[in-house]
Amino acid sequence: MVILSSKISGVKIHLNGQFTEEYRIALEDFTMFYDFIDITYDPNNKSSLKSKNDRVCRFCQKSSPDVSFKKSAHLIPEFMGNRNLLSDFECDTCNMKMSRYEDSFAKFFGADRTFSQMKGKKGSKTFKNSKIEVREIKEDGKAKIRITPKLLNGEKCYNIDEDNKSIIIENTKHSYIPLDIFKVLCKIAFSLIPESELEKFEKLRTLILQNTFDDKILKGNDFFRAYTFKLNWNEYKRPIVMMFKKRLSYKDQNIPSWTFVLCFNKFVYQFFLPFCEEDNWLYNKSKEVTFKILPPLISEELILNFGNPTMEIFDFSSYELLKCEKEKIILYYETKAKVE
Ligand SMILES: [Zn+2]
Repeated sequence: MVILSSKISGVKIHLNGQFTEEYRIALEDFTMFYDFIDITYDPNNKSSLKSKNDRVCRFCQKSSPDVSFKKSAHLIPEFMGNRNLLSDFECDTCNMKMSRYEDSFAKFFGADRTFSQMKGKKGSKTFKNSKIEVREIKEDGKAKIRITPKLLNGEKCYNIDEDNKSIIIENTKHSYIPLDIFKVLCKIAFSLIPESELEKFEKLRTLILQNTFDDKILKGNDFFRAYTFKLNWNEYKRPIVMMFKKRLSYKDQNIPSWTFVLCFNKFVYQFFLPFCEEDNWLYNKSKEVTFKILPPLISEELILNFGNPTMEIFDFSSYELLKCEKEKIILYYETKAKVE
């Protein structure tokens, strides 16, 4: 059994069960360099918030009456399953901005958002474009996914593989901005960083808010990546975020100071915070930065039952609108039946 002890709240995470050999080695390597700082999760009840008149926006640093705090600001986006984790330091103007970024994140999932049953404010989300409609329906009290392919100029967007009993859907996602996705991740992290550490992240704060960018800083910057695992089951019905900081004894190692792991639905997203003052020396191009990856904290038993998670690294450094990105969805069936 492995125990992660939080430096801040004293919370201990007990990782029961046996890890696969691969994950055990990766976990040991990761925890050698990083201290577990804290874990945040969506609580059962809404947390108590400061009165609106006493609030200061952590992002634009303005307070009432210069900005208003009328809207409920979610610390983790609602579509990731967060209901009650709210913040009292995000003004309505910044909240509007964050919602636009979150919109890119949701579009990035394409039709997989419906398949993974990620809910929005108004329940399940239907994916629709000119070729396909993917909708969650209720039948006999059970949630099911209905896929309606549309024939476009006689061309269908799916193929049936009879041998493997599978349907392969080639879909086109709606357009999104990759950097916006990274901003959502940074926004979550920036909301959770202890107040005493915030001044080290002034450059990150500006990045989250700004709309124009310097290519020299962004292009090829390895910090703007997310290291992701997709599980084959919905492990995280409510989202959690884990925060880690580089151990003092390794302060001269070429590894970033802060890393966060966001788990929601069947996804695990790890990212490293760019532009922390403590890491300025790492940006010297002659240094190669190493990114230590925390494996999914799931037991071997779950992997044997559901299959291996898929790892993928996404580069979110582009601020240009990404159009017509393709996604391939493979669905397995037991029997086929004609539907009237
Ligand atoms: Zn603000």
